[in-house]
Parts: sequence; C-alpha cells; structure tokens
Amino acid sequence: MAFHDECAVFGIWGDNEAGRMTYLGLYSQQHRGQESSGIVTLKTSGFTEDRPTHMVHKGLGLVGEVFSEEDLQRLEGTAAIGHNRYSTTGENLIANAQPLTANLRSGPIAVAHNGNIVNSASLRESLIAKGAIFQGTNDTEVILHLLSQSSNPKRPHEGTTDLIASLKETSRELEGAYSLVVLSHNCLVAMRDPYGFRPLVLGRRRNVDGAKSNPATVIASETCAFDLIGAEYVREIEPGEIFWVDESGEHSDRLPKSVAKTAHCVFEHVYFARPDSLMFGRSVYESRKAMGRELAKESPADADLVIPVPDSGVPAALGFSSESGLPFELGIIRNHYIGRTFIQPSQSIRSFGVKIKLNAQAHILAGKRVVVVDDSLVRGTTSKKIIQLIRHAGAREVHFRLASPPSIGSCFYGVDTPKRAQLIAATKSIEEIRQYIGADSLAYLSHDGLMRAVRADNQGFCAACFTGKYPTDLFGLDQQ
Ligand code: SF4
Repeated sequence: MAFHDECAVFGIWGDNEAGRMTYLGLYSQQHRGQESSGIVTLKTSGFTEDRPTHMVHKGLGLVGEVFSEEDLQRLEGTAAIGHNRYSTTGENLIANAQPLTANLRSGPIAVAHNGNIVNSASLRESLIAKGAIFQGTNDTEVILHLLSQSSNPKRPHEGTTDLIASLKETSRELEGAYSLVVLSHNCLVAMRDPYGFRPLVLGRRRNVDGAKSNPATVIASETCAFDLIGAEYVREIEPGEIFWVDESGEHSDRLPKSVAKTAHCVFEHVYFARPDSLMFGRSVYESRKAMGRELAKESPADADLVIPVPDSGVPAALGFSSESGLPFELGIIRNHYIGRTFIQPSQSIRSFGVKIKLNAQAHILAGKRVVVVDDSLVRGTTSKKIIQLIRHAGAREVHFRLASPPSIGSCFYGVDTPKRAQLIAATKSIEEIRQYIGADSLAYLSHDGLMRAVRADNQGFCAACFTGKYPTDLFGLDQQ
C-alpha cells in the first residue's frame, strides 16, 4: 500500500502530566505521520503580555527521536496539544511542523490539524493580498490567519467564548477536512468539519491522585491513544461540532455550516487506522475481517490456503479464511526492524528489493494453490514483487484478492496519494492488472461489499478514491 497516513492530533486538559501524556498519545499514533512531531503545553492559565503561557517543542522525525527526557521535563503544565505530521499540503519543513503557535490579539494560541482544506490556495491568496505573512506552506497556517482576522478579537480577560466565536466564524470560510485541536491560554478546543472526514474522539482519564470527580479531558485522532494512557473512550467529537473545556467544565456547540450527509473516510477502515482503534464508532479490526468475509463471498478461489500480505492484510485474510473454510497461514513473514536508518544496499544487491522486508516461507507455500489477501493496490509494483516471492517459494497458483475496490482517484481530504495517472486501476482493466502483477486470478472487493463491511447503512462515507465522486467542490484542484 503506498497511500500515506495523514496526521495525528492529541489534546489533554486537567492532567498533572499533560506533556508526558501527549508524548504517549503521539507515540501510539505514530502510524498516522512520521515526518515531524510537536507538543505545546499550557504552563500557566491566564495571560499577561510579558509572561509566555505556552511551552513548545517540535522537530522533524519520529516521536521517539524528537523528544528527549529533558524536553519532556520542560513541557510543564496541566494542558497540552500535540501533532504528528505527514505532509499533505506543504513540504517537510520545520516551519510546517505542528502545533503552530501565534500570539493573537485574544492571546497566545496553538493549533494542530488533521485534514486538508480544499480551498486553502484561494484563502491564502486573499490573506496575502490583505498583508498576511506566511512562515510555511501548510494549510493550517491559513486557519491561524483567518482566526487572527476574525471579527471577534476581544481582549484575553473577556474569556473563552470569544475564541469559540472566532473559530465558528473561521469555519464558515473553510471547505474540506479539518479535525482540529486548539490550545489557548485558558481552554482546549476540539473542532471537526461537518462532513467528519477525519476522525476525532473524546475520552477521560482519571488523574494519578485518583480523584474520580475530576478526570482529565482527552482528545485524539484514534482511540488507541486512550488505551495507552489509560483513558476511557466517551464518544466521537461529532461532525460539525465544536467542543471545549475550560475552568468551568466541558461545553459543546454546533458550527454554523451543516451538510446533508457525513463523509467519513472509508480508507481509515481499509488501511490507515490501527486495527485496535474504534473508528466512526466501529472496530477497525471487525471492519477488516468483514471485508475479507465479503471478498470470499464475492470472489472465492479454488485453493489450498489463505495468506495475508503482512501486516495490513492480516484481518481481511482472517475474514476470508473463516468465510471460505480455507486454512489461514502466515506464508510471508515481515521484518519489523526496517527503520529510517536503513542503509540503501549497493547496486549489486539492490535487486533484493522487497525481500529485505518480506520473506516467503517455502515450507508452507511449496506446491500449494495460495490465496493472497492485501488491503489495496496502488501502483502494482509491490504486489508484482510479492507474487514473484511466493512463486519462488514454490507456490503452484497465486490468487490475489484485494479487500477494497480499485483505487482510481487521488484524495484531497488529508491523505497523501499518488496522482491519478500513477494509480494502476485508473488506466488499466482488471485483466491487464492481473497480467502485470503475474497472478493466476485477481479480484477486488466491490463498493457495496465494502459498505456492508463498514456498516455504512446509518452513516455517510467518503469513498471518492474508489468512485471518483468527491463529496465537496474541489476548487479547481488537479484531479489528474
Ligand atoms: S478520497 Fe479516499 S482517502 Fe480521501 S477521504 Fe475519501 S475515502 Fe478517504
């Protein structure tokens, strides 16, 4: 799979170890972004011009590389937000690392964003025309500028509601996907676009002093972050909701814009989210198993065993196995220790290619007719190499099964996808793809099968990268 995860956000209010909890929250969500990481803590509530209230640390790299023990000690405070970035708009520059911070007329503010604002180019142009100066190239900075120019720039002592009013006003301008956490000098805010493209969840964590009456409020992209820090999942931040917590407690309101139907990203269930997360109220693991079961019903294969492409194909292969009755085997073993520090092999051994990461087990595969299950197929180059590996290990037949429909379109809502022209299914028929990857048979899950697997009956999903039907205006973004 060559689609890349977007970003992770995390926020916490009312916890004695807010900085450390945010570190752990980001650590558990590393899969959503590996280019940069950052944490901002609220050191002291209240704001005076000469006393900074925010402590900031961010850098390029993985969470474990960006923060040292000393950095975490400096990140004092009882509230914090954090961000892991995979660049979807803007290059991988430190200026684009989030949370972004600024001093507005209403006081200091930090913003972390998951998603992509589809009209950010035109918003940026008009902000620059009005004199705005941009530090980086990402769309989150556009949100900060809109906030700074909002018509509610009250003084800090006038309270939380001014920031909420400014955020609501700002949301009128924004089109596309945003799951935001915002930390001011006196509150933590979570805000999600009306379509609910990207996830955002609310939890509570009991403080170490055990005071049940006063648990910390926690916000994250995925529930797996709650599991690590011992927080309880409460609910989703609803699409079109603005939620905030301050000294007077938790509050919620609706954003001014509404839409007829939500557009939750179905790819979160297919590939992006961790299988141990709840996504849009449903277990990702159960969805993936259900995709495998649907796939087995729609496209069975006369075979001896089922193997996954590890790790992303594992739950769907389990589902395929249980529906088909074919035994499940780990016919390919993945080396989990290939890090960013991997030294590129010299030309003479570069042909080892996919073998560095994946090893096919000949004693399982030799002489067998094998069903291989993967989550999706983008360019086809890796699938082709995997099939070669399996054949090399002695498999007699290879039946390739994909637990999602053909990928035919790019994503404009916060996921880094290849251009349409690089998506093999956008330009080739299924038979042509089968020949290219060298499988004996090839089948994809249908759109209806995918929707059944994620239980889409009572909520709207975005599946634009499979259908080409985008739920919003794309404001002239290049679809090719
Ligand atoms: S286009 Fe695809 S990846 Fe993007 S939000 Fe829609 S379903 Fe998700």
